[in-house]
Amino acid sequence: MPVSERHAPGLAELHLHLYGCIRPRDFLAHLVERRVDWDAYEASFEDAYGRGADVEALLERCRRGDPQAHSDFDRLFVFGEEDAGNFRRFQAKFNLLIHGSAFVDLYRDDAALASVEREIAHFGERIAADQRRQGIAYAEQRFLLSADRPRDSARALLTAVATAQTRASGADMTLRLAPSLPREDPFAHWELVQELALGPHGETFTGVDFCFFEEGHPPRAQAPFFAALRDWNERHPERALALLYHVGESFEDKSLESAVRWVQEAAELGAHRLGHAIALGVDPRCYGPHERSESVQERLDQIEYDLEHAHGLERAGVRVDAAGLDRERKALHARERADRVTHAYDAARLDEVSRRQEYAMARVRSSGAVIEVCPTSNRRIGGIGDPDHHPVHRFLEHGLPVVVGSDDPGIFDTTLAEEIDWVTREAGLSPEERDQLVRASWSARSEVLSGREAAGQTRRSR
Ligand SMILES: [Zn+2]
Repeated sequence: MPVSERHAPGLAELHLHLYGCIRPRDFLAHLVERRVDWDAYEASFEDAYGRGADVEALLERCRRGDPQAHSDFDRLFVFGEEDAGNFRRFQAKFNLLIHGSAFVDLYRDDAALASVEREIAHFGERIAADQRRQGIAYAEQRFLLSADRPRDSARALLTAVATAQTRASGADMTLRLAPSLPREDPFAHWELVQELALGPHGETFTGVDFCFFEEGHPPRAQAPFFAALRDWNERHPERALALLYHVGESFEDKSLESAVRWVQEAAELGAHRLGHAIALGVDPRCYGPHERSESVQERLDQIEYDLEHAHGLERAGVRVDAAGLDRERKALHARERADRVTHAYDAARLDEVSRRQEYAMARVRSSGAVIEVCPTSNRRIGGIGDPDHHPVHRFLEHGLPVVVGSDDPGIFDTTLAEEIDWVTREAGLSPEERDQLVRASWSARSEVLSGREAAGQTRRSR
């Protein structure tokens, strides 16, 4: 065994969504016991796939013991290579977990809370056992709260997850929790998160996350929340929270330039770790000549950025025509903000996007933000077919701090080791470099990046 491996304490997994960790067979065992109204799930599936899932008929076959039905269920559950392409399809598959869980009853009946708590305890235990089998010694889970969730119910859910995690933790494994706050109003549950971070499970709460549809939610709109979090961390260094931010994962609604800008913006606003950041490093040539559009507002924001960063962009080889941009801005001001502006991409413009990425990558590197790369998730949600186009190559080439995560190992049918192996293989890393990648995750844990660990050590050494 190489020296590096002897010293490795196990794997640290930093990018996980709790329900996305559930394995298909565990969920099937749960579903065959339940009666579920599948209408909303079937509608979303049909919308994304153009055909129904017919899940109830499939479950009936499973209940009758049809052996083929179990693998048919795995296929329905897993978001595989053949599903690749867009976030809507992913969401349609994830909806099986949402609609099949007791969560969905919470919208109709507060009394369902007890069954949700039992469900979380059950899956929490199964997930931890799975992680132990994978050799994971440290894991940060994210758990999404919707803005309309009543405060008491949100508190009960987060407490249930934290309790399950505390129970499953041990000398060999540490589990941490980052509530995912609703992008439309992160303040909705912010007070509750602060309260929990100071409460009996406070050690478990180490970060907050932003996930789910990013379209329509520019990072700069979250600046007030970023400031509130910074203020919290200054006042409570021993309960500091890391800011985890999914960005540049899905960007069908905007120009490639704007998508790059969003990632830089999130990093410079103070996100500690960036989820995916595909737009920052993907080889733009993989999209080929094409057209895409964005809102007038988005284009105005991009013009603002180009003028503000003209010097750096020019140095990266991007020509910034200030007078032309000014004229375009004046013309755009006469239009509705929601109107669309169309952009055509030819080889030259795709090349220029690549130079913009170089500039933005340098800025992200200076910000200190760490990028979470989730290879299977990126390939399937981001539709990156050719491994050579994956952003991880350019992240490594430009010396950006990178950690590898599996995102939703259950729904992607993967493990953390497989994700790390993929990067090792595709980026041609040596065994020592692979080991460095594993160690990078330990150094990028939320409690390290937020300063919490250092604050605790300072106190103890006094
Ligand atoms: Zn994620």
